[in-house]
Amino acid sequence: MPDLRFIAVILLLCGWADSHAESCPESGVAVQVLGSGGPIADDDRAGSGYLVWIDGRARVMIDAGSGSVLRFGEAGARFEDLDFVGLSHFHTDHSADFPALLKSGLFSPRRRPLRIAGPSGSARFPGLDDYLDGLLNPDNGIYRYLSGYLDGSRGAAMIEPRTVGGDAPRTVFGDADSALRIDGLRVPHGIVPAVAFRISAIGRTIVFGSDQTLSNENYVEFARGADLLVAHMVIPEETTGTANQLHAKPSAIGEAAAAAGPDTLLLSHFMARSLEDIDGNVTAVQRHFDGRVVLAEDLSCVAVNGGD
Ligand SMILES: [Zn+2]
Repeated sequence: MPDLRFIAVILLLCGWADSHAESCPESGVAVQVLGSGGPIADDDRAGSGYLVWIDGRARVMIDAGSGSVLRFGEAGARFEDLDFVGLSHFHTDHSADFPALLKSGLFSPRRRPLRIAGPSGSARFPGLDDYLDGLLNPDNGIYRYLSGYLDGSRGAAMIEPRTVGGDAPRTVFGDADSALRIDGLRVPHGIVPAVAFRISAIGRTIVFGSDQTLSNENYVEFARGADLLVAHMVIPEETTGTANQLHAKPSAIGEAAAAAGPDTLLLSHFMARSLEDIDGNVTAVQRHFDGRVVLAEDLSCVAVNGGD
């Protein structure tokens, strides 16, 4: 008979215990990282995904990248608690697990609608409407067996899509008592339509910048005064070539953060190339931004205290 206390200690040391119960507070606002990695399966991290916990419930999910639904379950989140899912753009490391989330949700007691938002499409790249139609169209969608999410059949909760286009921010969610409000803003990510989200929840503000070059001059204003700013540090400082047209360098992330003035900057979406000299890249950020900097790990949780 093995010593159960010994096994329990080993499990704790290996991080196999319920991490949400230990790391995310049961009251107030917190952001939990579902995926802190990129599109390549070599970084031991899921693709992009985040939960916003509000008073012990995961009410907002931003991105559903590859592997994030596994983390969703590990975090102890429940589909029926979600008020909003934001898909920042349609690269796999931000959206590949969305149909898996919907399928999993069919086994939940949820019947109320689910608001989702994403970019409107362009002539060169699909947006949210194209994405939903391609997946869920009852006649020719790849996952037509989940088409109840579009028409309410088969007991599925209806999806309420909202697209974000143009130059100005758009409010994509607001609950009746104004305790939770979400705005979206288009951000530049090569030819890929992409959206940053600003979440205002019971007096706290979180901005998820998504993948972008930071060249939209409206973005700093959109992000200004956030308690927590989430920035994707995909490329190292010395990057040249096409990656520069998709992503911001660490120094640009630091400059934008300094201008927006968040209480905490959460760096995420790492790839092998940005992790190789992570200290140097963080230093490049901190050369401009002198606030608190936190590095994301899958399932790590950051309480959003607003500096109090
Ligand atoms: Zn991307």
